[in-house]
Amino acid sequence: MDAITRRTLLRQAALGSAAVAALGVGAGAAGAAEKSSSAAAGSGTSDGSAAQGSGKHVWEVKPDPIAASDISQTVDTEVLVIGGGYSGCACACNAALNGAQVILVEKDDVLNGHGVGGTGAVKSRVMDENGVVLDKPVEMERWVSTCGNRCSEKVVGKFFRESERCMNWLLDLGQEYGMDCMLTVGSNSTVHPEASCYHMLYGGDFYDKYGYAKAVEYMLADKAEQAGAQIVYEMPAVQLVQDADGSVTGAICKGADGYVQYNASKGVVLATGDISWSDEYLQEFAPIALKVKARLCGDTGNVGDGHSMAHWAGAKFQDAPWPTMMHPQAAAMYHGPFLFINPAGERFMNEATWVQGKCVGIMVNGGYNHAWSIFDANFQRDNTDSLQYGGGMFWDSFRAVGTSPEDASASHAKTVEDGVVNTPDYYKKADTLEELVAQLDVPADVALATIAHYNELCAAGEDTDFFKESHFLYPIEQGPFYACEVGPGLLGVCGGIEIDDQYRALGEDGQPIPGLYAIGNCSGGMYAYDYPINIQGNSHGRCLVEGKCLGEALAGVYDQVKA
Ligand SMILES: Cc1cc2nc3c(=O)[nH]c(=O)nc-3n(C[C@H](O)[C@H](O)[C@H](O)COP(=O)(O)OP(=O)(O)OC[C@H]3O[C@@H](n4cnc5c(N)ncnc54)[C@H](O)[C@@H]3O)c2cc1C
Repeated sequence: MDAITRRTLLRQAALGSAAVAALGVGAGAAGAAEKSSSAAAGSGTSDGSAAQGSGKHVWEVKPDPIAASDISQTVDTEVLVIGGGYSGCACACNAALNGAQVILVEKDDVLNGHGVGGTGAVKSRVMDENGVVLDKPVEMERWVSTCGNRCSEKVVGKFFRESERCMNWLLDLGQEYGMDCMLTVGSNSTVHPEASCYHMLYGGDFYDKYGYAKAVEYMLADKAEQAGAQIVYEMPAVQLVQDADGSVTGAICKGADGYVQYNASKGVVLATGDISWSDEYLQEFAPIALKVKARLCGDTGNVGDGHSMAHWAGAKFQDAPWPTMMHPQAAAMYHGPFLFINPAGERFMNEATWVQGKCVGIMVNGGYNHAWSIFDANFQRDNTDSLQYGGGMFWDSFRAVGTSPEDASASHAKTVEDGVVNTPDYYKKADTLEELVAQLDVPADVALATIAHYNELCAAGEDTDFFKESHFLYPIEQGPFYACEVGPGLLGVCGGIEIDDQYRALGEDGQPIPGLYAIGNCSGGMYAYDYPINIQGNSHGRCLVEGKCLGEALAGVYDQVKA
């Protein structure tokens, strides 16, 4: 890709607000419905329903093996990839491009791709062209400490090592498909900095058809098919096949015409995503996720099929709690550093924090699933001022590197004013504070007292309640006044099957289970305890790295091409 030109920059700036809109795709998606916790769409005792009535969890009760007489078809391949999200498509593509025989089975009739489309990298040629330099030792340590030092540093280290090679490959592939790349701005925060390393690929036929959300997956799948891979839709895997010594040799899937057994001589790759839509899994491994306002991965979300199949085959789960990916995206799309009040009308946290912090702060301080961000007529000016000290997702970012804080604030101002008209449940505006709080689900007198007290702290120049840095203390004085609903949303749970740095699933004894691999959100190790976003978009970034490196390894070329 050429060095950034002014024309590209203007196009990118325009894309900034489009990107924010795209990131709202899941907002408002239903948050409660429980889907089946059993592996895929099977029936009888072969799909996890063995656990029903047993008092045990679905992953704890290994179903009876599906009888050979019930298998209607047997198919041989070298590599079987289960799941057509970012990680699975990257793996299938790279295995096929390097000569392996590949079949990818997908549960749904589309590639789900539970994401929106920014891929994080620790270095790339687009970052080089834009003068973005990331300090790898500092950022890796930040990552590990955000994970409470419970992640696998070998797995994280491999991401840091391979990220540039993999991202540049994706950029090349994107170019082949007519895609350009916009790099978006991170955060200047001293406490929670976010690198400007979020690569949004746009342009070309797949982008026109699927937008940011799925363009990359469809491009990878298309390339995989061109290289000879076969993608089979509506073919959920329900059980792994193991030989006498426990090696995984294939999987049984449930197609429309009965069970199909896929035998894979080189490996079975679980890329089945997370557990967001299984209340049973969430309760046990990520209970905080049950408190969000909405699950943002749509109504075709994952229920932990790969987790259960792996566990039945002897794989170990990483220790709870599993890290949750949460952004305050389930209501309004803008929240800067301004006052938050909860439904009791009270202030409860330092608001000038990162997205995960905003979500968790709302949910753990009083058990609410939303709060209101309150600001005044000067918010556009104040937001611009604040960006010299902070920022990050939904406060600054999703504007192109090279554009200005003023551009970000103008884009947010438009979002807020449009929201008042188009999504009035989330965005409120009034000439007086009394009229504003009357529109909220808060006790008006308490809320007004909270705002008055906050203004006193601003005047004094010190936040003696929560010690928000004083440069973020903007008073709420001049009408019209605004309130944006801050709604914690669950993007995913990125924990599960323990793996090593070759993405081999590990058994209870810590040894690899021959033939079984896990990548993307169904695997554990890359993260633990919490999800770091100092490398913005790193979830997609790790799907790319894990999928590409494993695909190359299964095709037997990794040692020749690795970074
Ligand atoms: C609204 C939203 C926005 C996001 N935006 C970003 C972003 O910009 N950047 C970022 O880094 N991350 C983002 N994420 C996080 C995102 O979840 C991950 O980055 C990524 O999509 C995970 O990829 P995956 O391959 O692990 O799983 P998934 O994308 O969830 O794919 C799993 C696939 O496996 C299939 N499957 C499940 N069970 C079976 C089975 N039994 N048999 C066959 N197939 C099965 C599913 O149908 C699905 O297609 C976002 C998430 C959400 C919800």
